[in-house]
Amino acid sequence: MEKTRQAKAAGRRPAPAANGTADPAHHGLPLHEVVLLLGTDHVQGLASAEVARRQAEFGANVLPRSRGGGIFRKLARQFHNPLVYVLLAAAAVTLFLGEYLDSGVILAVVLVNTLIGFVQEVRAEAALDALHSLVRTRAVVVRDGQREEVPSEDLVPGDLVILEAGDKVPADLRLVRLSGLRADESALTGESETVEKNEVVLPPTTPVADRRNMVYSGTLVTAGTGAGVVVAIGGETELGEIHRLMGSVQQIATPLTQKLAHFSMTLTVAILALAAVAFLAGVARGQQPPQMFTAAVALAVGAIPEGLPAAVTVTLAIGVRRMARRRAVVRRLPVVETLGSTTVICSDKTGTFTENQMTVRALWTSSGAYDVTGSGYGPEGRVLPAGAGVQGASEGSAAEGTEATAARDFALHWSLLAGAACNDARVVREGDAWRVQGDPTEAAMLVTAGKGGVDTAQFLSAYPRRGALPFTSESQYMATLHAPRLTDGSGTGQNTVLVKGALERVLELCAWQMDGPGDNGHLNKQAVLEVAHRFAGTGLRVLATAMMHLPAGTSLDEANLRGQLTLTGLQAMFDPPREAAAAAVHACHQAGVAVKMITGDHIGTAATIARAVGITADRADGTALTGTELDAIPEDQLPDAVERATVFARVSPEQKLRLIGALQSRGHVAAMTGDGVNDAPALRQANVGIAMGRSGTEVAKEASDIVLTDDDFATIEAAVEEGRNVFDNLTKFIVWTLPTNMGEGLVILVAILAGATLPVLPTQILWINMTTAVALGLMLAFEPKEPGLMSRPPRAPGRPLLTWTLTLRILLVSTLLVAGTWWIFELELAGGASLAEARTAAVNLFVAVETFYLFSCRSLTRSVWRIGFFSNRWVVLGVLVQAAGQLAITYSPVMNELFHTAPIGPETWLRILGIAVLASLVVAVDKRFRRHSF
Ligand code: ATP
Repeated sequence: MEKTRQAKAAGRRPAPAANGTADPAHHGLPLHEVVLLLGTDHVQGLASAEVARRQAEFGANVLPRSRGGGIFRKLARQFHNPLVYVLLAAAAVTLFLGEYLDSGVILAVVLVNTLIGFVQEVRAEAALDALHSLVRTRAVVVRDGQREEVPSEDLVPGDLVILEAGDKVPADLRLVRLSGLRADESALTGESETVEKNEVVLPPTTPVADRRNMVYSGTLVTAGTGAGVVVAIGGETELGEIHRLMGSVQQIATPLTQKLAHFSMTLTVAILALAAVAFLAGVARGQQPPQMFTAAVALAVGAIPEGLPAAVTVTLAIGVRRMARRRAVVRRLPVVETLGSTTVICSDKTGTFTENQMTVRALWTSSGAYDVTGSGYGPEGRVLPAGAGVQGASEGSAAEGTEATAARDFALHWSLLAGAACNDARVVREGDAWRVQGDPTEAAMLVTAGKGGVDTAQFLSAYPRRGALPFTSESQYMATLHAPRLTDGSGTGQNTVLVKGALERVLELCAWQMDGPGDNGHLNKQAVLEVAHRFAGTGLRVLATAMMHLPAGTSLDEANLRGQLTLTGLQAMFDPPREAAAAAVHACHQAGVAVKMITGDHIGTAATIARAVGITADRADGTALTGTELDAIPEDQLPDAVERATVFARVSPEQKLRLIGALQSRGHVAAMTGDGVNDAPALRQANVGIAMGRSGTEVAKEASDIVLTDDDFATIEAAVEEGRNVFDNLTKFIVWTLPTNMGEGLVILVAILAGATLPVLPTQILWINMTTAVALGLMLAFEPKEPGLMSRPPRAPGRPLLTWTLTLRILLVSTLLVAGTWWIFELELAGGASLAEARTAAVNLFVAVETFYLFSCRSLTRSVWRIGFFSNRWVVLGVLVQAAGQLAITYSPVMNELFHTAPIGPETWLRILGIAVLASLVVAVDKRFRRHSF
């Protein structure tokens, strides 16, 4: 009743009060007032009906989209380009000279150019924008008193949000409780030190950076746990404010695009200078200034590679989209370039090489060994003495299992109980399937206790959990403290501690082993290790369980556990290798990319799984190492050892960092996966940081360059393949476009220097440039992967886009274009054609040679006969469009008028085709003999 009244109060309140703008001093109010103000409950959370109402009222918790400066700004940007300046100057001069038609055509071209640039920018931006929605942030909330996971967009003011290390804070929250909570607020305050949080009420004037009782949207939880009520969402958050102030423009520049933009800018300046010199030289030799001006403009327009930066951006954007389709979401665009040069992939095991579908298969205690039947997370299955007819027993009930096992083996009972009660996971039924909420390792142990007939709920109601040491990849174990009901664990009497974790870690803490009721013997470490070794040898992942009684009032920390724990047993679980992993590893090896497994798991398990997916791993020859062994290697020998080894087991996040450094010191371009909070430094240090989309923490995602939405190793291989393809396609475009520009420029330069009539006019050059760049050149970005793409070694990082071979080919094609154009022009004039007809023939020849050459550029090494004329349908479509355009400019009276062209006869077409075929034969011969050195 009280709750409804409060909710109604919030409902009546004007929107700003509940979303934190009109009354932002939530840090300055006592908690109960904040809760009242927001009409919520800091234990039960909001009621779902109220959530729905507030969602309708306040909208989604997303930052308002700020598009790159609005449509007009973006359009205006397109005019800010040297080519456009040249064209506008040309239009002005032609207008002044009374050539109205020419100036009209030039202005139309400027407009078309601007529109094309604009559309490309919008599309590239949209492609990148779309990626953000692929990586959804989720938040854990309490609603109607129940915990649930929801997309962050669904949060409303008043929602009670649960936080833990690794989370990205989904909205601005006033903390209601916390334990050791620390946040990295650098995104907001620029301060790189993490901030310790508390619940103390602060003066209202406290600046954002010092509000310890609040956490802010977009910051990261680096340690501890906590809960807070949402005080502001979306654009009303502090982050939203910053976002608005910066008007954040999506950056679509990478080192490569910047280098290319710089290259074309330098080229443009050089060409403009050349055009000016040509103009002056012509005039000095007595030519008419207007004619010379036209020639100089034609030279500039023809030679400036204006389409280059846009084509590069489009190629990158297409590459990014293809990667997203293959479930690798690029967060930082420059990584697309790096991927193609990747020489080593360091990937963790669980979930990447394996399915992360855990099923406990075998149990061991000092009194017996057991098999567990059933698969998946369903309750069907039993715990049976090892070898007691696993087949045919898979359908049995848990109760039968009890008689046979846990009731008779006291240690087994405690081992199963530790697995299930020292556990934060849940398994819920969804239709016919069982879904895991939380860690699959824990879910598997929970299910197994049920199969063994252990009633965890009963234990927890008699001995509720009063404390815990959470699992971290450094500690590698988890412990929980249970006190008898009606006590809080601090009085007199005994509490129970349950532990589960990595074998070596738990053994370090144990002195005893449970042999029977009240019968604890000295721990026989050797025997336990041998059993574990046997399990690990078959690829099973082994966790040890332990327990102890702790006098009430003694705190739960590692110092109090050390040497006091009693080992209860081992649980060995199977996590099947992913189906596609072996093929992906093979593909990487073929592509000259080394694959290394870096895992927190036991070395035996890791090596077995590694071998199953095709990675050689053996302790004997140093190809499999543990983190401890890694630490013992002196710094100067580390690079060699790391280069040789393929499996690194029980590795801590710091060791990962060291490992990456060692690989990079050998000149490697390293890709590295990570999922935990502490993986962030290694992810940043790696050349390609890869985070897990499903199991990874937000901190890891934030530090990564790529997020895998399916956590699969095969996706990394796919991303490398796409990265290589992007580079190929860029090279193809450049190799195709530069001869066009050089050819056009040279044709005019030769005419000026020779004092001859121009074989192609400026407006005709504009036509060639504009139409071929869009209809022909851009289609190369859609070129499918070359067959040998993944059997080449990785591209050396510093290697220039244009090798010597390709540069020579560009020069060759430019020469062919110049010679062909002059040849046909002179041939036509000599045959009695008019100037307009001869020029039309020259324009068509230019386009014909470019079209034939386009097919050649579709592969840098293979001939078009081998890749198939029709294998890129976009190219075929482009050629058809271009052909239609050429027919129009040749035969349509309007176009004839606009572009000073004239219809040509069939013999001229035959001559054009003849010369174009001849030119492409020369290119084919060049490609045939120098294909290996591209
Ligand atoms: P990878 O690094 O390939 O993902 P991993 O899951 O084995 O492998 P970690 O998550 O760092 O790596 O776990 C290290 C070890 O800690 C595991 O091998 C296991 O023995 C133990 N462990 C894993 N999860 C838990 C848990 N929830 N509670 C207790 N111990 C765990």
